[in-house]
Amino acid sequence: MRIAIIGAGASGLVMGRHIKTFCSEFDIYERRNCIGGNWRDRESPGSPPDEDMIACSPLYDLLRTNTPVDSVTFDGLNYDTEECFIHWTDVNKYLKDYANKFGLTEHIFLDTEVFNVSWTDNEWRINFRNNLNGEIDEKYYNFVIVCNGHEEYPNIPDYEGLSEFKGIKLHSKRYRNPKHYKNQRVLVIGVGPSGSDIALQLLSEADTVYFSHHHEDFSDGRYPANLIQKPDVKKFNNNSVIFEDDTECEIDAVIFCTGYVHNIDFIDKSCGVELGEKYIRNLYKQMFSIEHPSLIFIGYPRLFFIFPLIEWQAKLAIKIVSGQVALPSKEEMYEDTKAWEQNHRNEGKKERQFFELKTLARDYMRGLSEVGRFEYPPEALFDMFNTYFYQFKNHPTVFKKHFYKIVNSEFIFKPCSELNSH
Ligand SMILES: Cc1cc2nc3c(=O)[nH]c(=O)nc-3n(C[C@H](O)[C@H](O)[C@H](O)COP(=O)(O)OP(=O)(O)OC[C@H]3O[C@@H](n4cnc5c(N)ncnc54)[C@H](O)[C@@H]3O)c2cc1C
Repeated sequence: MRIAIIGAGASGLVMGRHIKTFCSEFDIYERRNCIGGNWRDRESPGSPPDEDMIACSPLYDLLRTNTPVDSVTFDGLNYDTEECFIHWTDVNKYLKDYANKFGLTEHIFLDTEVFNVSWTDNEWRINFRNNLNGEIDEKYYNFVIVCNGHEEYPNIPDYEGLSEFKGIKLHSKRYRNPKHYKNQRVLVIGVGPSGSDIALQLLSEADTVYFSHHHEDFSDGRYPANLIQKPDVKKFNNNSVIFEDDTECEIDAVIFCTGYVHNIDFIDKSCGVELGEKYIRNLYKQMFSIEHPSLIFIGYPRLFFIFPLIEWQAKLAIKIVSGQVALPSKEEMYEDTKAWEQNHRNEGKKERQFFELKTLARDYMRGLSEVGRFEYPPEALFDMFNTYFYQFKNHPTVFKKHFYKIVNSEFIFKPCSELNSH
């Protein structure tokens, strides 16, 4: 049996580790010159990011994980740290150690980009290019596991007047250090983990920080008063921005923390899947191409701890790939997927939210265990997520000061007030 894995980020590595338990004929294709995906090596701290928006790393100098260390850990390897929210260099080293420990390095082809995956009656053809010398080649496989990530291609909404705005404009992917904004008036757009973290960092250096988003009113003290809350942007002028409430503010820089768009251009139509709005259609359990279930996607569901999630997906994938368990019929898989999508619609969600888990994470991961007939994920994981998510949302300035840990399958939470009193 021959298996191809596309991408050597966290998803590709965990998939490789699990495959290696029963099969040695697998290749991991990585288009960059190093492993780690989003956590890969980057230019040295302090230096400017790569001009190329795709090549450039999303890691900024002061980036610590926004989720507890136990949520960026795989089975079989721990971090050597007492800290709960670790610097990105720790995750970078962890993934390298993981690849070494589980003997994955010899399977990884660096600088090798897959530009086409197609179904050829009874097997998969992978067309790839060596990014160093431009040479192209092809190889055939029984299974293809797509671990290409979905935080690579920046999403910058098409704002009126943006091209006329003369100040600094950048996506969060190219943000590096608050020092670059000393005494400036900066607008941060978007309130995801990056937007929130970057806006708070900027307060130490910038003259003024405006924080634009369409979420609930945050002027309830959860953010510092000098972080000025603003509604959505209506338009930009030469040196100012006008918000939906018609207030206008002069600004020197805007940082778009507006997320990423998905890209699966290398997946041929013959694969039976289709890219919708931030969603891949025709997947069973958000993983298996229903038309050709030997094509598997890892790492797409969002709004839960990613590492445990992809490890659970990998566990199911190997049950199927190794033939220990069979998937349901095509009709049943379509039914299941339709029901998942309808549930989201019933809750008023749009297609771009169909990959979101949050409160559905427990059911989703248990569903993977049921199909693969292996153990359920530990309850402590969901307890940790619920507590963490509440703290992240409601106490954005202190959530990283608390202690969150899973010890002997039990979740332990210690608020920082308790930690400081010892
Ligand atoms: C700034 C930032 C902070 C984050 N912080 C956290 C955090 O605190 N906690 C957390 O759990 N998650 C965090 N994440 C999410 C993070 O993306 C996941 O933790 C994890 O890295 C996803 O791994 P992945 O392998 O699925 O994707 P990626 O890390 O994106 O890896 C995909 C790999 O596939 C390669 N690839 C893509 N297409 C091809 C192709 N055609 N041919 C060959 N190779 C290809 C890419 O080069 C890349 O190496 C953060 C993300 C960002 C951007």
